[in-house]
Amino acid sequence: MQQFQQYIGGGFSDGSARFESRDPATGSVWAMMPEAKSADVNAAVDAAEAAFLAPEWAGMTATARGKLLYRLADLVAENAQILAQLETRDTGKIIRETSAQIAYVAEYYRYYAGLADKIEGAHLPIDKPDMEVWLRREPVGIVAAVVPWNSQLFLSAVKIAPALAAGCTVVLKASEDGPAPMLEFARIFDQAGFPAGVLNVITGFGPECGAVLTSHPKVDHVAFTGGPDTARHVVRNSAENLASTSLELGGKSPFIVFEDADIESAVNAQISGIFAASGQSCVAGSRLIISNKIKDAFLTRLTEKAESVVIGSPDDMATEVGPLCTEGQIRTAVDLIAASDAAGAKVITGGAPLDRDGNYFPPTVIDCSEAPNAPCLTNEFFGPVLSVLSFDSEAEALQLANDTKFGLASGVFTKDLTRAHRMMRGLRAGIVWVNTYRAVSPIAPFGGHGLSGYGREGGLQSALDYTKVKAVWLRTSDDPIPDPFVMR
Ligand code: NAD
Repeated sequence: MQQFQQYIGGGFSDGSARFESRDPATGSVWAMMPEAKSADVNAAVDAAEAAFLAPEWAGMTATARGKLLYRLADLVAENAQILAQLETRDTGKIIRETSAQIAYVAEYYRYYAGLADKIEGAHLPIDKPDMEVWLRREPVGIVAAVVPWNSQLFLSAVKIAPALAAGCTVVLKASEDGPAPMLEFARIFDQAGFPAGVLNVITGFGPECGAVLTSHPKVDHVAFTGGPDTARHVVRNSAENLASTSLELGGKSPFIVFEDADIESAVNAQISGIFAASGQSCVAGSRLIISNKIKDAFLTRLTEKAESVVIGSPDDMATEVGPLCTEGQIRTAVDLIAASDAAGAKVITGGAPLDRDGNYFPPTVIDCSEAPNAPCLTNEFFGPVLSVLSFDSEAEALQLANDTKFGLASGVFTKDLTRAHRMMRGLRAGIVWVNTYRAVSPIAPFGGHGLSGYGREGGLQSALDYTKVKAVWLRTSDDPIPDPFVMR
């Protein structure tokens, strides 16, 4: 059985306890993971604090930090295959996607490597003739990064890369589900030449590890990705220390198709939007909002494609839909579909777990046209389940799309340019994809509104968010200070 270790202060150790990790494709235990409890969390935060204060990191030039990040990017690219294999083995995400995604994760490290020495302060044209005032951008401090199990290498890169570019130090808590790729990433990071303690990687459970980390009095910022319920705990935890927070949460993203859309292209994008990664994606386009003029034709084509998707072992390059990461997600899907059925929704295809070993759930489409209150329209499945609504007018499409407490992503398919612009303005979401879906880049910010959280990851702003501004005042006059009882 494979054994993994945690990474604290530049050293590898077993953690206070060990826990089993199951292969989602077979249900059998394949590895033992280090379980961090409060002693490990405290050690990791102490290591991050020591590294933050030590001259090796605090005194390093931004250009030198960038060079280390470039080295890390190269190492991630060189080790992409092993990282992809581990992510597939431990989370069930198909090898086709993990291979492509991890190769691209290297580009996130490269982007922030280049940004490290472009995080500039400013000189202010201050309204006092005998003063010079500058703004310095300084690292925010010790960052607690907490990630969920899906796409951990990607979701941690969008936190680690900008945080290190800005000069922070990081304690990364990998998810207790599928942590293998993050613990292997720690081994790769160790070869890049960063001073010990700049990044620490632990894993463990919510109450004993995540809560201890996010409420730790030495933590300055909490960067969290996960579900809204956990996010509420995290915000309460961080309030203890008044640490700042950024939250990337779930979604119930609308995928709107107008009658003038290129149907084949929209069907393919919808397949990608909800069935890729078995629907375990925060940006999953899980609510199809379709024009009544093409609803039947669109659903016929979509169902054909959904039923011909290749379901299989996640390590087979031919597989298109693999298992869900945990058995619990199957139970959630079954319960939500039963409740939606009771509310009048109609399952068009799929709808029940596959009768085989592992956590397999087939592509599922549910028509909710007669069931506007079906729970499948409001609850995130985190599985390959698409709910369908239809509309007669553009105004109705927009109203249905915005009828959600989430606000992460959205997709619009139309060839009408002016309508596309109106939709872009009207959609309440952090991302609007027009005639495409599920596209990301280190250059573009990513994040949402409402229950989808706040803060943005990716792009220049994200690096700035890991800095705090210091205003420095310098008096240039040698004359005595005038009236000391009047504020200058
Ligand atoms: P989760 O919220 O259950 O867990 C996320 C992380 O929080 C895990 O590491 C977990 O151990 C930790 N945690 C649990 N309790 C905690 C506590 N009390 N204090 C601190 N940390 C705690 O999420 P999940 O089920 O692992 O992942 C699925 C969720 O993540 C979905 O809602 C999905 O939409 C969301 N997600 C969002 C994005 C995004 O970028 N917006 C990306 C991927 C996933």
